[in-house]
Amino acid sequence: MSAECLRTTVVGSYPKPLWLKYIIGNCNDDRIREDAFRDAVRAVVKDQEIAGIEILWDGEMRREEMVSYFAERIGGFVIYGEVRVWGNAYYPKPAIVDELVYEKPLVVHEFEFVRGITDREIKVPITGAYTLADWSFNEYYSSKEEAVYAIAEIINEEIRKLTKAGANFIQIDEPALSTHSSQEEIEIAKNAIEEMLKGVRGKVYTAIHICYGEYERLFPHVMEFGVDQLDLEFANRGFSELNVLKEYSYDMDLGFGCIDVHSSRVESVGEVVKAIELALDVVKPENLYIDPDCGLKLLPREIAFEKLRVMCEAAKNVRESLS
Ligand SMILES: [Zn+2]
Repeated sequence: MSAECLRTTVVGSYPKPLWLKYIIGNCNDDRIREDAFRDAVRAVVKDQEIAGIEILWDGEMRREEMVSYFAERIGGFVIYGEVRVWGNAYYPKPAIVDELVYEKPLVVHEFEFVRGITDREIKVPITGAYTLADWSFNEYYSSKEEAVYAIAEIINEEIRKLTKAGANFIQIDEPALSTHSSQEEIEIAKNAIEEMLKGVRGKVYTAIHICYGEYERLFPHVMEFGVDQLDLEFANRGFSELNVLKEYSYDMDLGFGCIDVHSSRVESVGEVVKAIELALDVVKPENLYIDPDCGLKLLPREIAFEKLRVMCEAAKNVRESLS
């Protein structure tokens, strides 16, 4: 069995070191903050390397939140106050108040920094146009659809810059798709993916990450989005959603979320081995990527690290058993 099977990766976020949170909250000196961001990325990249992750990312140290981070960098957005999203979680909701324009790099600087500090492969997660529009107020465009396509053009410009800089694995995060599964909404999201990947198809490996949704309503349509991989969450629901993939003879690469990021209980290696074996019933080993359900940022750092370490050990065990 080749080493290209069951490759381990992450979805994106990782817990910020406590000292970084302290600096973000207490220090306004841009030089110190920049220095801290860089050191934090060095630390979390090292954590992932030690845990055994083969395709890693910077843990989103610079991103406070997956929508506002982008909205703050795209001209035409403003950030209103915090809105409640679930339980006691709040996020700063952006609003589109003018024509959206590309003003400055969104993530290409993040990629370039990580490229300079690791020899491992890199996956670049970028929030998708559908989610950015859906989680913002639209006070400028005549419809949500129009806003989605305007954002998609900007994301496309960034993805072109990323590929020029050498990025070869881009993951578009579209968690908002989980809550909208009508035909019209899926069609808008599909067209947005088309626009975001215009001119880069074939030059870069692409994935979409979707989590905590009704997969039975998204399938089989999401298989026609024209990306190489769907990255989905399975552990949180006891892997039952694998049946949906089976039903539609899933034949793409799969990012298999097999670590529950909503629980601080660390899975055992045996448990994750069993989960990977369930996925191998549906997807060939060379098409299977192993990762957590979603970003790890809400977990304590040592738990996140341990979960990744266990996941990589399990993937290695299954790989050896297949050889
Ligand atoms: Zn997610």
